[in-house]
Amino acid sequence: MTDPTRSAAFDLLTAVLDRGRPIEEALDALPAMDARDRAAGHRLAASVLRRLGTLDAVMEPFLTKRPPVPVRHVLRLGAAALLLLDSPPHAAVATAVDLARTKGLAPFAGLVNAVLRRISAGGVATLAELDAPRLDTPSWLWSAWGRDARAIATAHQQEAPIDLTLAPGAQAPEGGTELPTGSWRYPPGTRVAELSGFAEGEFWVQDAAAALPARMLAAQPGEMIADLCAAPGGKTAQLAASGARVIAVERDAKRIDRLRENLTRLSLHPGIVHADATLWQPPELLDAVLLDAPCSATGTIRRHPDVLHIKRASDVGALTKLQDKLLDAACAMLRPGGRLVYAVCSLLPAEGAARIDAALARLPLRLVPIPAYGYGVPEAVTGDFTLRTTPALWSDQGGMDGFFAARLERI
Ligand code: SAM
Repeated sequence: MTDPTRSAAFDLLTAVLDRGRPIEEALDALPAMDARDRAAGHRLAASVLRRLGTLDAVMEPFLTKRPPVPVRHVLRLGAAALLLLDSPPHAAVATAVDLARTKGLAPFAGLVNAVLRRISAGGVATLAELDAPRLDTPSWLWSAWGRDARAIATAHQQEAPIDLTLAPGAQAPEGGTELPTGSWRYPPGTRVAELSGFAEGEFWVQDAAAALPARMLAAQPGEMIADLCAAPGGKTAQLAASGARVIAVERDAKRIDRLRENLTRLSLHPGIVHADATLWQPPELLDAVLLDAPCSATGTIRRHPDVLHIKRASDVGALTKLQDKLLDAACAMLRPGGRLVYAVCSLLPAEGAARIDAALARLPLRLVPIPAYGYGVPEAVTGDFTLRTTPALWSDQGGMDGFFAARLERI
């Protein structure tokens, strides 16, 4: 019988690597299956995507001719089981051979068996000789990260822990550690829906760095605030939990459904508007705006290693244009003295500091320096008093996502 985890992982690799689909979208397209098998398939595919360059380099010397792409995916899954997940060699090889058969690749079952046996015998030694962080990082990203590239790419080698933001007054579920920023951290792979307090809406999943932009906005009870680009709603939840009157604006109808579902579980009820934030106008001038702009998502590679394979340097130009339009729109929504936090989960300066420099030159905005304690991450405060986190920060405690954020005020 086919192993459903391996089968799902194969389908996910095919969608991401052959069709350039985001893994979240590919997950939605999987056939109905047990939730645990689906989650395990997702983790397995993610571990291959995270270490793809290394796995291919280990495999290379054992291949006498180039196998078709789907066979490569089977080999990659088998090699990941052997080298990264410490599966017993016999089981790893047998499951891969079985996967080849069930995916219509029976003529290659012998090849899969032979290559994986050889990897099992000699692959670990090869692995130790490779420069894995470099092999697992596309060149355009390595160059863009400059002198931080090796530290960032090294942090990407590991699966990220799970961070939670607690609802006000809620108790953290057992097994976590409180971070200096106030988020709670749990081991990678923690099944969040099984933690106590999930159904009661006592917390939501949010990387420690992703929780900082809403803290930087310092929403006050009764203030009128827009959260532009809001889904799936982690930052909306933070703002709404502060007692502010929040309007969440989101362009994507499917993502609005997720936003609504998430906020309903948390018993939070902000206004939700399905609109393009570059065109939407608030009912009155606002006290504050949080703009968590769409971006390359290169700061979330630890959690979404598909980004390594589906994003291109050529995508960035269109994104920075949209970020500028959103900044223009956000500025026009504010009353004089109103506050704006601009954030992107990107590690590319073009989407971060460069957008703020351009906005300050073009718009009636001034930069408000963030405090030196950096909301619990003083290492992330830049010379310009903006915030820049990278996965290499707190590397001994599991790192954090890469974010850029700046505080601004309408003149
Ligand atoms: N703020 C969210 C959170 O904390 O959960 C994450 C936001 S995600 C980085 C960016 C979101 O912006 C996506 O949901 C995307 O659909 C939405 N988006 C992209 N362009 C938009 C636009 N012009 N107007 C409104 N939403 C937009």
